[in-house]
Amino acid sequence: MIGVSWMELMIQYRGIKHNVLNDAPFIGAIIIAPSCFRECLGCQNKDLKNSPLYDNTAFDVISLVKKNKFNQGIILAGLEWTCSPNEMKELIHAGLDAELQVMIYTYMTEIKFTDTFPDLFQLPIWVKFGEYVDSLKTDSNIQHGVKLATSNQCIKYMGGEQWEN
Ligand code: SF4
Repeated sequence: MIGVSWMELMIQYRGIKHNVLNDAPFIGAIIIAPSCFRECLGCQNKDLKNSPLYDNTAFDVISLVKKNKFNQGIILAGLEWTCSPNEMKELIHAGLDAELQVMIYTYMTEIKFTDTFPDLFQLPIWVKFGEYVDSLKTDSNIQHGVKLATSNQCIKYMGGEQWEN
């Protein structure tokens, strides 16, 4: 990071999927993380690890999201953005600055996430916590309009005033 200002950090990602309806409490653009070091049994996203990589600043990624007028926010998902913490934080702040809603998908529990990223605690963002556990698959864990894959997972709004759609 020496010699590179925060807003000039180049972010690697594996694509943007626009106008996603059911993965967040808003219509969002999924920005796919570049990697995930985990090997969860039954992972639905492992093929993404071989998809093309793109490089852009957070400002340019958010500009691409904003170009699509139906996107109300960003969903940091696909693979695991906590493996790229500086890039994740840059996208979160760029998204909030652009008045977009923000949601993160992570395998981490709430305790592990807030211990690891105390600076993100109480930001006005949504987080889906909990790893994918194949043996806990369910059709009935629906939170904030989002159907979660396994019964150990949950969605929380981390702080501030709740967004109104
Ligand atoms: S954390 Fe998510 S992306 Fe990573 S291996 Fe597990 S299910 Fe797949």
